[in-house]
Amino acid sequence: MVSTPSLETPLSGRTFLETAIASNSPNQSLVPLTTRLGKNDALEIGGCDVPTLVRRFGSPLYILDETTLRMACRQYREAFARYYEGDSLVLFASKAWSCLAVCALVAREGLGTDVVSGGELYTALKAGVPADRIYLHGNNKSAQELNYAIESGITVVADNWQDLRLLVELMGDRPNPVRVMLRFTPGIECHTHEYIQTGHIDSKFGFDPDSLDEVLQFVAKQPSLTCIGLHAHIGSQIFELQPHHDLPDVMVSWLQRAQGYNLPVTELNVGGGLGIRYTEADDPPSIEAWVKTICDRLTRACAEANLPLPRLLCEPGRSLIGTACVTAYSIGSRKTVPGLREYITVDGGMSDNPRPITYQSLYRAVIANRMNAPATETVTVAGKHCESGDVVIADAKLPATEAGDTLVVLGTGAYNYSMSSNYNRLPRPAAVLVCEGEANLILQRETYEDLLRQDRLPERLVPNQGS
Ligand SMILES: *Cc1c(COP(=O)(O)O)cnc(C)c1O
Repeated sequence: MVSTPSLETPLSGRTFLETAIASNSPNQSLVPLTTRLGKNDALEIGGCDVPTLVRRFGSPLYILDETTLRMACRQYREAFARYYEGDSLVLFASKAWSCLAVCALVAREGLGTDVVSGGELYTALKAGVPADRIYLHGNNKSAQELNYAIESGITVVADNWQDLRLLVELMGDRPNPVRVMLRFTPGIECHTHEYIQTGHIDSKFGFDPDSLDEVLQFVAKQPSLTCIGLHAHIGSQIFELQPHHDLPDVMVSWLQRAQGYNLPVTELNVGGGLGIRYTEADDPPSIEAWVKTICDRLTRACAEANLPLPRLLCEPGRSLIGTACVTAYSIGSRKTVPGLREYITVDGGMSDNPRPITYQSLYRAVIANRMNAPATETVTVAGKHCESGDVVIADAKLPATEAGDTLVVLGTGAYNYSMSSNYNRLPRPAAVLVCEGEANLILQRETYEDLLRQDRLPERLVPNQGS
């Protein structure tokens, strides 16, 4: 499929761009789909000149391309319309990037949202996501979070017995039952990083499939719970279609058992997990191929089981928003370890992107103000945090750079801002949404005052108080 340029060629950012948009499926591209070579050798995204954005909004800066995000939403929706005869709904797994603008944008594209905490639920509701399109996950929901879900009229995905018992207790004799889905561990292996596998049996998420009958029997007896569907999520950053080819069969067998208990189960949620292309070595299937695999398989399994087609839900996170965003940093200090390594340092790191230090994730970068320069150097791009492991990219092939250049890390839309921290008391970066030459601030850069907002100083420690 995609030609991988030889690592021997000193690729410039410009020649890299020629191969970076390899398909119109955003998750198969290395860069946002609107990425161009602009004026003065500069990188352009969403019609905006990246070095200019950095001068205007500062760095580090998350730059989110509206076109790419909308395109991914549409490709999911359109693929379901094309390959599935039943009703369907795509949910955005908002843990990938939860903020008002992102939730609102995705909702405008007709998607629902899944949330995993009261905070994500609050964000989705404030962003205007309709309650009947919000689903609450989580393997340890608090009574307060469940109550919030009930009051908001959203659907709860029950993960364990505690969820069910708490729901029954909190519902008391409220007149309208709460809509509940049941999450089971599908027992399907996939080859991805150990921390992000959730589908195999030894997982903290979901009911064990062996307890299926017991759970269904319990739920069937609760007038305050309406069990509308079943859920399974295999894992994340998956490049094979096989796990999602196998999943519908497993879920349809559950569905058949549920009908034995006379439950109004009409929805199946197959989770998310489709991978994206972070580097040239990654080769995920397209959004369309992923959706088609699931639709074909589910349609066939339902026909074989003589069941009507359920409403089909999925909940991608990474493949919706991962490619749509890049992070622009300013390059600062440089260190040469003779005969070993050349370090260049950026003005962020593990606080704005904890994925490399957490999952050993790989990234690709370009120098936004030197897109025509050949990549003649192999350098390690380090962050500015007090951790030796705070490395953004090890052995990056880049042009010769100097302090003040703009280094842009690609594919940072998913699990970057949402996993960011204030480690070393770095204020979180700003984020801008770019589209057709306009840039709108969607997350204001944190200030030093923001860092102290929750700090409280006991009276006796206030400087120059008492003696
Ligand atoms: C994380 C998660 C997702 C989204 O996964 P991606 O790999 O980002 O698509 C969907 N559903 C559940 C239950 C999850 O935990």
